[in-house]
Amino acid sequence: MSMIVRENPTFPDQVVGQVDETSAAGIDAVVKAADVAQIAWAALELADRCRILSAAADLLTDDVIASVGRAMTLELGKPLQDAKGEAAYSRLLLRTNIADAPTVLAPHVIDDQGGRLVRRQVPFGVVAAITPWNAPIVLSMLKVGPALVSGNAIVVKPSPQAPLAVTEYFSVLASGLPTGLLQVVHGGPEAGEALVTHPLVRKVAFTGGDVVARHIGAAAARVITPTVMELGGNDAAIFLDDALLDDTAFERIVMATYMMGGQVCMASKRIYVSRSRYDEFVQGFVAAANRVVVVGDPMIEGVTVGPVVSRAAQERLEALAASSAAAGGEVIDVGRIADEVVVAGGYFVRPRVVLGLPDAAPLVCEEQFGPLVPIQVYDGLDEVIERANSTELGLGASVWSADEAKAFAVAQRLEAGFVFINTHNRTGMSPRAPFGGVKKSGFGREYGDEGLLEYVQNVSIHAPAAFRPGGSGGSANAYPV
Ligand code: NAD
Repeated sequence: MSMIVRENPTFPDQVVGQVDETSAAGIDAVVKAADVAQIAWAALELADRCRILSAAADLLTDDVIASVGRAMTLELGKPLQDAKGEAAYSRLLLRTNIADAPTVLAPHVIDDQGGRLVRRQVPFGVVAAITPWNAPIVLSMLKVGPALVSGNAIVVKPSPQAPLAVTEYFSVLASGLPTGLLQVVHGGPEAGEALVTHPLVRKVAFTGGDVVARHIGAAAARVITPTVMELGGNDAAIFLDDALLDDTAFERIVMATYMMGGQVCMASKRIYVSRSRYDEFVQGFVAAANRVVVVGDPMIEGVTVGPVVSRAAQERLEALAASSAAAGGEVIDVGRIADEVVVAGGYFVRPRVVLGLPDAAPLVCEEQFGPLVPIQVYDGLDEVIERANSTELGLGASVWSADEAKAFAVAQRLEAGFVFINTHNRTGMSPRAPFGGVKKSGFGREYGDEGLLEYVQNVSIHAPAAFRPGGSGGSANAYPV
């Protein structure tokens, strides 16, 4: 059996831990066990499922959160406070699913002169969740919570780049649930594909990049298994000429850009500023970044940006910075280095802004997924909306203005699944607000009622009044009226 060994991106010569890669036979056994568990789980009343899940959620104690947060920081370089926050937020999301399920999943009954129609929300069966490394627990929980509460079993395959915290967290949750209902398997493309194409897997929930999405989409199509896909973004943050540019606004846009080293699907990835405010903006942005971006060992309190995930990511981002300079961009280092020795030894990338790039430069028109951001100038509203929309991606965007009505009006013209007003990224999310992409950023939604409904299928049971005993009868082949 082969092992997946995870190095620490802050101190790459340190091994953080390892997991066994799941073989094809192992995946088969896991899915079969999940299928058995699912049948009994779906037969329970919703209230009983909620009660059991609620007790299992209680096992995710603050001690578990602290331990899992530490594991995530070591394997991923996510600052410790953030990592613990992610684990705690995921517990909140599960509790939100449990609270919302009785209303969202309630059967809908119509009983009138047309007959009796019962519309039920039934689970798919076994769900496969394939998740990326950058927010391993929350991006798994967005599938685990809705899938389980609505009567599915779920098998999670996290990224081999962040397998440890997820395994610890969901093992604790699974220990409070019937055997087989929630399992974690490990591996890369081979394990992922074995899971996606397993005949007992009835739905695939994927979060990741477009290259893998195409593979998974094609594999799932071959076995006619539905998918939900949360893919990458190239979020535009648009500052209108009346935007309130105070210290806290600058700190919000700075952290929306650099948190997790910019390795967040909904990070602000292109900033557009009205020409009348451009100089003021650049100055304020750089000053705020120098105050709040502290690069170093993510275990140390006060560090807000750790390393990127791997040497490959570091090299890709350095090449992107070099090509941005070669394309005529003015590249400015921002933030402070907490410890030069640590930063020199790990997979760190200096946060930077790049000014004066053409929109066709890769840093502007492609998802950078790292701590480099272009700040672009614009002259007119129609122009900036067109430039913001001129991408195949459509995950998030933001509009910044002192006039909320005006911001909403601009937001409605943006091709994005989620538009934040006067903020961007994590601070603008809400458990009740459905999140997901338009265009090539994906389909289906997570969070909110829609996020729960992704894991059920509507089935209808209909008794037309005309054919009930004593009914009016009617033609054997007429269209219904
Ligand atoms: P990735 O697409 O490389 O990998 C995602 C997962 O797919 C991993 O678990 C990987 O092992 C698995 N996988 C790889 N090949 C496979 C195959 N052939 N069959 C089945 N599974 C396979 O993504 P990543 O590098 O881990 O994450 C970064 C990407 O994820 C970025 O593009 C980012 O924008 C996106 N992302 C999107 C969201 C969102 O909610 N929209 C959230 C976070 C990240």
